[in-house]
Amino acid sequence: MTPTLGIHHITAIGSDPQRLVDFYTQILGLRLAKKTVNQDDVSAYHLFFGDREGGPGMDLTFFTFMPPTPGSRGNGLVTNISLAVPAGSLPFWKERFDKLGVKHEGISAQLGWQRLVFYDYDDQRLELVEVDPANFDDKDLWTTPEVGAEYAIRQFHSALLSVHDKALVEPVLFAFGYAVESSEGNLTRYHLPGVQRAEFIELEEDPSKPAGFNASGTVHHIAFSVVDEAAQQAVRQSIAGMGLYPTKMIDRFYFKSIYFRTPAGILFELATMGPGFTADEPLETLGEKLSLPPFLEPHREQIEAGLTPVTVRPLP
Ligand code: ZN
Repeated sequence: MTPTLGIHHITAIGSDPQRLVDFYTQILGLRLAKKTVNQDDVSAYHLFFGDREGGPGMDLTFFTFMPPTPGSRGNGLVTNISLAVPAGSLPFWKERFDKLGVKHEGISAQLGWQRLVFYDYDDQRLELVEVDPANFDDKDLWTTPEVGAEYAIRQFHSALLSVHDKALVEPVLFAFGYAVESSEGNLTRYHLPGVQRAEFIELEEDPSKPAGFNASGTVHHIAFSVVDEAAQQAVRQSIAGMGLYPTKMIDRFYFKSIYFRTPAGILFELATMGPGFTADEPLETLGEKLSLPPFLEPHREQIEAGLTPVTVRPLP
């Protein structure tokens, strides 16, 4: 088994929480799998969008801050979030984006993948990539009346790391178990041998690109899956052995996390596969009420008073 098991979740920064819910549930057809608060700033939502379980491999999360301070993509950040859709579905998505006024760049091919790059209301950059449906494990498939199984987003496909020097992050990827799969120009693709879900990472090396500014419309951090706490400690040791500074394990209630900043500037997290979002509410009603981890539950009334309610609703 490789030391890590693919992308666990990606956490980005957004602004208006209701607009985020509208975009990711109604336009993209994902499930609002958990509605909670930023554990380090309870005046802000932490919204998790995913498949039926919002489990590792399909869990795109947002911290929301109003009013927004616009960020900029650049070196030291994850600059593209890649989501896997069934082969042949991109024309459906392009038409859908046109109809709903979603900014996109049309269908293109790069390093052998058919892609459709698009942007959310905060100018967050994402893309859909076509994948042979035989590669999907559909046990947690989530569909909506408008986005059925033949089009639905299944999992993370990849994420793009932008760096001014590949040597500042590649050793970490190798320690995680990634191997180089292919490269073209300044773009390198890595994969985790034997892993079938969210197993790709792409890296763009460009010394001339300015550093990114981490605010609204950019990615805050990327988390990689580890099977359990023992595996997490083993990877933590190898990271510390590289002269980096991983945090102690932090219990996030839904999973356990360790964070460290790569020398390239990108914030990485190692997150355990479980216990997951059914730890405090049933699978059937995930995301419907505001979930608070036990240590915040005594402050619920005060926390709820500081938040504007958001709900899954048809597009206004
Ligand atoms: Zn995280």
